[in-house]
Amino acid sequence: MKKLLPLLIALLLISSRGEANFPVLEYHLIGTPEGRWQRTPANFRGDLEWLYQHNYYPFNLRDLLAGFNGLPKGKQPVVLTFDDSTIGQFRYLPDGRIDPDCAVGILKAFHDKHRRDWPMRATFFVLFETNAPDHNLFGQPDLAAKKLRQLTEWGMEIGCHTYSHDRLDKLGPAALRRTLERSQKGLKKLTGNEAVSLSLPQGAYPKDLTSISEFKLVAEVAGGFNDDKYDPLHVKRIQAIDSEWRRFFKRSAE
Ligand SMILES: [Zn+2]
Repeated sequence: MKKLLPLLIALLLISSRGEANFPVLEYHLIGTPEGRWQRTPANFRGDLEWLYQHNYYPFNLRDLLAGFNGLPKGKQPVVLTFDDSTIGQFRYLPDGRIDPDCAVGILKAFHDKHRRDWPMRATFFVLFETNAPDHNLFGQPDLAAKKLRQLTEWGMEIGCHTYSHDRLDKLGPAALRRTLERSQKGLKKLTGNEAVSLSLPQGAYPKDLTSISEFKLVAEVAGGFNDDKYDPLHVKRIQAIDSEWRRFFKRSAE
């Protein structure tokens, strides 16, 4: 028994924190200052560095459907997700360069530095038309198509966040159909594909779940790590803010 006990403890630790447990991180605004819904460029860089140092390897959310196929030995999967298609996530500068301080610019620089270990993977849940212009397909109307093409070309995923950030529990069947259809049509036109992943505005599920059955994955707004018994219609996420990093990753402040 004395010999078995450490083994049992080791097995328990492995099964509770193994590769099967994957985090899906959730970002909203990228900019300054740091806040409940905003991560600074410096802190976002720090997040990538921390994940890299702790042997995480990025995937798109839809890669979950193929069991995160291609995960290198010794690495664990992480999914970075971005909600609301805000301009700080993807901004072109007047000279045509990608802003090095926007999320996409930071991801690209990180990828260029770690080509083998950090592919360009992330899932962007985009909005088309809201009364906050900075949230509509990354806030630069003339460049919206170019941005979605670029993300797709790099192999990143574009997901649906409804057409106008609509709470699905508040819509009747016709309005619900309409917001999802308009979003899917727009994505098909701009990226060539409809979305397979849906992020629910404010985490609100529709009363009739069959109304979102075209989506293979549905992301919640919170919940922590997912385990191997995850439910594709209830993918849990972790907000990438300091308090959540401490709580779920035991990451101390730098
Ligand atoms: Zn949102």
